[in-house]
Amino acid sequence: MAMIKSLAVHLLLYMVAMTVMVAADLLRFKHPVKANGSLSFLAIGDWGRRGLYNQSKVAYQMGKVGEKMDVDFIVSTGDNFYDSGLIDEHDPAFFDSFTNVYTAPSLQKQWYSVLGNHDYRGNALAQLSPELRQRDNRWLCMRSFIVNAGKVDFFFVDTTPFHGKYFSETDQEYDWRGVLPREDYVSELLKDVDVALKESSAKWKVVVGHHTIYSAGVHGNTEELVDKLLPILLENDVNLYINGHDHCLEHISSSNSQLQFLTSGGGSKAWRGDINPWNLDEMKFYYDGQGFMAAEITENDLVVSFYDVFGNMLHNWSNSGNSRRSAW
Ligand SMILES: [Zn+2]
Repeated sequence: MAMIKSLAVHLLLYMVAMTVMVAADLLRFKHPVKANGSLSFLAIGDWGRRGLYNQSKVAYQMGKVGEKMDVDFIVSTGDNFYDSGLIDEHDPAFFDSFTNVYTAPSLQKQWYSVLGNHDYRGNALAQLSPELRQRDNRWLCMRSFIVNAGKVDFFFVDTTPFHGKYFSETDQEYDWRGVLPREDYVSELLKDVDVALKESSAKWKVVVGHHTIYSAGVHGNTEELVDKLLPILLENDVNLYINGHDHCLEHISSSNSQLQFLTSGGGSKAWRGDINPWNLDEMKFYYDGQGFMAAEITENDLVVSFYDVFGNMLHNWSNSGNSRRSAW
């Protein structure tokens, strides 16, 4: 109930904020954690294909792992609805690709979602609309926002406007309402994220965006994020950057910081063999197939796992250094 009340209050604030300025401070949500202070969640990206391309099989395994871990919420890293987002708030794709696919009891939790580039190809505002929350109250999608969950602060960042290519493409149309002028939007967002990270006193800091910062997948690195967002994450001691966009499961670590780069973009369609060479000291895990990520965070420990479409745990990493199993 507290969550619903909090959502209602924030929804009101959000609507006010929308009418004032897109560059207002990032909205904050509080999510309760378990009695022992621990938190667990799943992360899934690049999924909405009406159950096809193994989306339903991945969803089934998410349900099983979600139950075992008693997950508190689910993170969607974007590209929620293919090929071109939603048409409007009444688009049946919302039911066909979300409500009717993630049906397991353990997945009847809050979903925190960002927009991907494919979502911007449709009616981006439709996914942000409170009307969708009336259709399925699990749904919460915003451009950029913060979730405080016990010892963990999550910072969700709208990465599509960073990508210069989308603004010069002539064969695709994007819904840039609320984003233009792009330079102002991006610089205000970077400022907001930097301020919010500096204000955070959470032990663990997790940043979520759709696009890769580093990836050996077909899309590779996103140079605009390497140039503009990465320095802010490093300066503020962020622990995890979780993204989708590349349709794979991937874990890259860096030798000079604690930041881990985690790609969870295997929610439906994937392409076998889509991998580029990478420094093997940094590449902890790469899987060119479907699946999802799970994480458990306690006071002193942060554990990340990746599962495939059959429910096999392919990779398990802990900040305390116990890498128990890896397909890489
Ligand atoms: Zn994408």
